[in-house]
Amino acid sequence: MFSYRHAFHAGNHADVLKHTTLVALMKYLTAKDTALSVIDTHAGAGLYRLDGDYTETSGEAREGVFKLLSKEKTPQKTPDGQKKPVLNATKKVASTDVLAPALQDYIHVLRGLNPQFAETGEAAHLKIYPGSPFIEQQFLSGRDKLKLFELHPTDFKSLSGNIEQLGVGRQVTVAREDGFEALKTFLPPPARRAMVLCDPSYEMKSDYARVSACMADAVKRFATGTYVVWYPVIPRPEAHDLPRKLKTLAVKASRSWLHAVLTVKSSKLITDTDGEVIRPGLPASGMFIINPPHTLKADLQAALPQMVALLGQDRNAGFTLNHGG
Ligand code: SAM
Repeated sequence: MFSYRHAFHAGNHADVLKHTTLVALMKYLTAKDTALSVIDTHAGAGLYRLDGDYTETSGEAREGVFKLLSKEKTPQKTPDGQKKPVLNATKKVASTDVLAPALQDYIHVLRGLNPQFAETGEAAHLKIYPGSPFIEQQFLSGRDKLKLFELHPTDFKSLSGNIEQLGVGRQVTVAREDGFEALKTFLPPPARRAMVLCDPSYEMKSDYARVSACMADAVKRFATGTYVVWYPVIPRPEAHDLPRKLKTLAVKASRSWLHAVLTVKSSKLITDTDGEVIRPGLPASGMFIINPPHTLKADLQAALPQMVALLGQDRNAGFTLNHGG
């Protein structure tokens, strides 16, 4: 337990899908003039250095957020390991050369934390990557509240420190508690408007069942909340079942739902020249949203083909977008 550290994965293709969706949700939900409670059950560390040891080791952001910026200058590693900005003009954004509004909004959030990137537009100056807490916090106004849960001792400490630096007082609270359990105590929210992000690491296969049980309980306690689940698309029965279970619970509760999946590559195992089997890394991930805003489908319909065009790694790249209710 607890070997997962989001810092290794910050800014990867799954984060691009999750955080673009989160930005679109937060933008819509905070545009109303009534208070909103945001509950992030699995918050992570809040901020990640894209030039830090973790991210450099895994290099996942290079296949994620940096590719999104590849119409500009993208940092790539030269054979001697040096970073060098090069112009990447090889990929065309689907149908138009202008990024979809939801992707522009996501990049706007990145600019807010990276002044030099904001000034120059150079991807090489993107040094800090915001996790979900910092994305959510950027959209809050005085009446809104954000509750963050993180169990890992190191990530909890980093998250607490990062949030404290914002100087926002009690508007944002951080607790080292089990997010699945803690959620129950906040529903229904006093403001009668809530968005919940449930984004576990799925390190333990019991996480899949806990997500569906937690969402079923949450919808019972507060039927009109917006519930947002991220999950990995991997060859594991629990991962396949999760969106099906979420859809069933939404349909049974007469709630609308939206399901988006972004695939960047084949999930087939690769064999190297010595016959060693290489794990391909995460090929795809999905977002399942119960009670999505009516605007979300159009936002993702425009953004997903562009994510495929820019982040796709082989001919298996693609997306699906389904909704109901
Ligand atoms: N939501 C974050 C983001 O988008 O930036 C990333 C979260 S990461 C995928 C999952 C986090 O959940 C990890 O930091 C892990 O330590 C934490 N975690 C694992 N089990 C937990 C639990 N039961 N309650 C709260 N946090 C948990």
